[in-house]
Amino acid sequence: MELEKRKEILNQIYQIYDDFISKYDLACKKGCAACCTRNVTLTSLEAYGIVEDINQGNKKDLFEALNVESKRKRFLPKVTINKMADLCSREEDLPEEETADPTWGRCPFLSEKTCPIYESRPFECRSFCSYINCEEEGVADIDPFIMSVNNVIRQYIEHIDSYGVTGNLTDMLLHLGENGNTEILRKSNDSVGENLLNNHPASVLMIPPEHREKIQELITTLQNIKLD
Ligand code: SF4
Ligand code: SF4
Repeated sequence: MELEKRKEILNQIYQIYDDFISKYDLACKKGCAACCTRNVTLTSLEAYGIVEDINQGNKKDLFEALNVESKRKRFLPKVTINKMADLCSREEDLPEEETADPTWGRCPFLSEKTCPIYESRPFECRSFCSYINCEEEGVADIDPFIMSVNNVIRQYIEHIDSYGVTGNLTDMLLHLGENGNTEILRKSNDSVGENLLNNHPASVLMIPPEHREKIQELITTLQNIKLD
């Protein structure tokens, strides 16, 4: 499927998620930034929109922040969510992965509690959510059903970017920016960049039994996304 079409589908997924999450009375709001850490991961499809935003908005200094960031410790995923779902469904071992630690530091883009790429921010940033203010309380209070929905949405996004890659925001954007790529097209089973993982289609959705009935309406909405 063409890149433009996939970007359109991604925007529709974001809209479906916004409509879903707006029904919850959460503490999250623009300018609340305790969850903005350097551990954010995303797919290449989400990254194309961010690179466009950076280039069109004359925000190229953000790449300098990423270059500095690339020397710092950050979360580097070892498995994508669709690969994880596949391994779990076959009761196979998952690769060992360090737990993302928020104390490693804040997102390289964060400035005065503001996100300079807010409109194009990836799904992980859109899905930070808590009933209580994490900055004041020191912890988040996350609804388990929202976590299930977040996982399913992540699986759909990876699915429509099956020929792309997943990685930390810093690694992904540096890879795209440095090479001037407008699209990563994987031509073999080799990953296209250091610290980037190959994406996979969703073979099974990770939904706990107690949420399977409740989540069906959202899944139907996702399946009904119009391509024209
Ligand atoms: S997850 Fe916590 S820190 Fe992030 S926006 Fe929500 S309340 Fe604020
Ligand atoms: S990209 Fe923006 S929303 Fe996401 S963690 Fe960084 S500053 Fe926060």
